[in-house]
Amino acid sequence: MKLHVLGCGGFVPTRNETSCFLVEHRNQLIMLDAGTGVCNLPKYRDVLERYDTLTILLSHYHLDHLIGLIYLTPFVQDKKLVIYGPGKPAYEQTTEEYLTEFLKPPFFVRTPHQLTRDVEVHDYSAGDFQIGDISIRIFPQKHSHPSFRINIDQKLVYATDTSYREDLIPSSEGAAYLLHECVFLDSCPNKNHTCLRELTEKLRDNPFEKVLLVHQQPVWTEEDYATIRTMIKGTNLEQVEDLRTYEIT
Ligand SMILES: [Zn+2]
Ligand SMILES: [Zn+2]
Repeated sequence: MKLHVLGCGGFVPTRNETSCFLVEHRNQLIMLDAGTGVCNLPKYRDVLERYDTLTILLSHYHLDHLIGLIYLTPFVQDKKLVIYGPGKPAYEQTTEEYLTEFLKPPFFVRTPHQLTRDVEVHDYSAGDFQIGDISIRIFPQKHSHPSFRINIDQKLVYATDTSYREDLIPSSEGAAYLLHECVFLDSCPNKNHTCLRELTEKLRDNPFEKVLLVHQQPVWTEEDYATIRTMIKGTNLEQVEDLRTYEIT
């Protein structure tokens, strides 16, 4: 499995673009969230050329995870696009209905089915489904609106826009990499996100090969990043930057 980081920022694109990751695994190309990091796609033309289909998994519908859908078409218009998002019962409407509202005039000019030559839109709910030979497991999280943790083939776990969940490690089933959100440093002002202090405590003896800190706070300064480096020194937590690639075995 290969993981390409297109956007590891949260909320607002500053130092890094907002949530977007490409995963190459078992002849499938999967995009985790479609934030502003989609604008980095032109740097991955060699990756895109290897696949006829792009499958997008949306963790939830907040715009820092969705806005890149309107940037997508020029780079993948010749591909089949399969989009999965959380539907009922977590939400009142289907993924297709939400995306139709988001993309329609006067906000934009397309229906979801006009994003590329061939588009499928599916709902997921908590539980399992397959993308080709890949097993996807979905777990509910705690956020201001329903968001979901995504486990890809028990190799990579993506947990963003959530408070720390105690079922994270038991449910990860030996996954090698964890992408976990990290929005605050010392304490969380609310239960919708996670802070680094809590992650360093809860993940002190974690079973992952690496824990990549994503959805980073857009107003962090160089001083804050120096603090982060000190806080994670000697751990397997890593502060990620856009355009990095990881080989996950
Ligand atoms: Zn977010
Ligand atoms: Zn969110």
